[in-house]
Amino acid sequence: MRNTQIIRPGAVLGILGDGQLGQMIAIAAAYLGYKVAVLGPGGRDSPAGHVAYWAKAWRPDGVVSEELLDEFCRLVSVVMIEWENIPVSLVERIEARGIPVRPSSNVLRIAQDRLFEKELAESLGIPVPTYRNIEVRTQDVGPGRETTDRASILKTRRDGYDGKGQIRIPRGGSIEDAWRHLKYVPCILEEAVFFECEMSVIVARSPPTADLIIPEAVVYGPFENVHENGILRQTEYPVTNDHAALFFPGVAEAARNAALTLAMNLDIHGLLAVEFFVDGNGQVIFNETAPRPHNSGHLTIECSDTSQFEQYVRAACNLPWGSEHFHSSGRMINIIGEEVSEWMDHARQPRTGLHLYGKGEAKSGRKMGHVTHHWTYDDE
Ligand code: AMP
Repeated sequence: MRNTQIIRPGAVLGILGDGQLGQMIAIAAAYLGYKVAVLGPGGRDSPAGHVAYWAKAWRPDGVVSEELLDEFCRLVSVVMIEWENIPVSLVERIEARGIPVRPSSNVLRIAQDRLFEKELAESLGIPVPTYRNIEVRTQDVGPGRETTDRASILKTRRDGYDGKGQIRIPRGGSIEDAWRHLKYVPCILEEAVFFECEMSVIVARSPPTADLIIPEAVVYGPFENVHENGILRQTEYPVTNDHAALFFPGVAEAARNAALTLAMNLDIHGLLAVEFFVDGNGQVIFNETAPRPHNSGHLTIECSDTSQFEQYVRAACNLPWGSEHFHSSGRMINIIGEEVSEWMDHARQPRTGLHLYGKGEAKSGRKMGHVTHHWTYDDE
């Protein structure tokens, strides 16, 4: 038992956002006897809306009326998040009605801003790429002024995802030109890291119990990730033998410890996913956080005793943790855009979990589903 109140099966759990992460949270919640109410841009006709007990859409401009929020809050015992760019003001309005949001508005405020999360990682002694804030035009950054002294990436501080809001600048390229493309919104300029591979770790955390009987957190990973055009293409667990950097001792431990340190310092109640670069010397370098289930954790559905989605539900409802033991190895591959037309090829594959999110239009770059190939150690 935790010292915070247990939310019992039968309760309605709220979810903000209605995409595939919300859908998979809702399915995990249903297995434990909960219902979910979903508030997001798509309402009933959305991946999460298709499997929800209650689903309504907010206005196209993102505004949630007082009446709609009252209706949602009357139903739910706790609110979860499937998208980190949910407006903090919306989360605060829910908290002001006495409904806990996991994670809280305090965590979201940091996780939504690339500058704040990098400052936090740096203050905790976690290596970060060299970066600087580009917020106001100065003598340095202005038309025809400063150029980069190394290959860099200009990223919007807020609202970027799947490689959106990012521009690569070659060494000697103009910061101003890139910034103009990003409409002069607040950005960070960071060095392009020559990484050998990318990894992620997912932490589930609840505040510690008074008697300290239940561990504060469970940790998944590191997972090994491959991105294409800023979008996750593939995740493998355990990490492969393809990268010399991964043979340096302590790489996995460094990533797990860094993610755990961040989760504790944020005092997160829920999930924290942390992405890292690993350079040729085996140094683990912080990239970004997401305070929610993460695409790289989808293979926990097929490969571990308790998926990241169920663990999130357990955290939000103050239940004991499920076992995070991995019984299988796996490779998750995203189905992006038009690739969804090949779904039957995947459906025929043995030892393959096929997940289609039920999204209407297969727009380019849109995550339409994923497959997880899985095998047990006996098969290797
Ligand atoms: P992000 O949204 O910041 O995670 O960026 C998406 C992907 O772009 C990352 O997973 C990397 O593959 C690449 N990327 C982002 N930042 C950097 C960087 N500083 N150096 C090299 N590659 C990067």
